[in-house]
Amino acid sequence: PSSPLGSSVIPIVNKLQDIFAQLGTHSSIELPQVAVVGSQSSGKSSVLEALVGRDFLPRGNDICTRRPLVLQLVQTKSKSSGGSDDEWGEFLHLPSNHRIYDFSKIRREIEAETNKLAGENKGVKDKQIRLKIFSPNVLDITLVDLPGITKVPVGDQPTDIEARHRTIGVITKLDIMDKGTDARNLLLGKVVPLRLGYVGVVNRCQEDILLNRSVKDALTAEEKFFQSRPAYHGLADRVGIPQLAKKLNQILVQHIKALLPDLKSRISNALVATAKEHQSYGEVTESRAGQGALLLNFLSKYCEAYSSLLEGKSEEMSTS
Ligand code: GDP
Ligand code: MG
Repeated sequence: PSSPLGSSVIPIVNKLQDIFAQLGTHSSIELPQVAVVGSQSSGKSSVLEALVGRDFLPRGNDICTRRPLVLQLVQTKSKSSGGSDDEWGEFLHLPSNHRIYDFSKIRREIEAETNKLAGENKGVKDKQIRLKIFSPNVLDITLVDLPGITKVPVGDQPTDIEARHRTIGVITKLDIMDKGTDARNLLLGKVVPLRLGYVGVVNRCQEDILLNRSVKDALTAEEKFFQSRPAYHGLADRVGIPQLAKKLNQILVQHIKALLPDLKSRISNALVATAKEHQSYGEVTESRAGQGALLLNFLSKYCEAYSSLLEGKSEEMSTS
């Protein structure tokens, strides 16, 4: 169970991330987020949809992830606790408060935004699509689905310590393992140890998707799957999408809490610097005369700087 602070830090960081995303990529303040990596068809999109409990990601071979999708899950109050059971999405690139309640429209908007880039230069591909999902059925988690990540060869990289200390392993497709085998030892960390451990999941197979089986039904089926397999008994904290959601939420909250003091001081330093710069331009006044004086001040400051540059007296500017 997360503390009141715990449940509120993720929306704050989401807000900061939105602001920085709109300012552009060059921000000196890095914010924590969870990136989803794995090879093509390993089940990343399926895991994201399962965490949301809804279908909303583009499907098909040609429409795979081509832009980073930043997915911010925001828990709302359910009807039973005084809120509403509505679920909706909001994109940062659309007007704020433009709520999309139809999840197939969310899918089409992601496709449209992705396709906007066809034929454009490569740099634009790095531009994120930012989507918020509001629902009483999610835990606060911010995830980034990254395009173009190919196989991660864990077995051959025993010295990849850095990655191992901040990676949570998600083992997908446990339902289609060879008969007579199971992932118990893998989930117990006996094969490739990870500090944050593993969670095993079962999502919809392609046939389920073709038959329009809902993500909700698949979550019920997943629960039954783990109950019915003796190999996974006693591993309740390491199996299932709900466990994964809980762990991701906890990891993110802990991470943010650890970074908070530093983040706070960097933001307040930036604030002080900006306020100082602002002050150096003079008092902001309502009167026309005051505004005229301010403008004059601006211009003379600009002229001073410009002429000292021309005269080569700019050392103090370049070293400050
Ligand atoms: P991505 O490329 O990593 O985003 O992978 P997808 O989520 O699109 O999944 C690729 C294929 O694997 C799809 O046909 C899914 O239906 C299927 N799939 C994903 N997870 C599972 C699973 O746990 N069990 C089974 N049987 N199929 C899965
Ligand atoms: Mg995908």
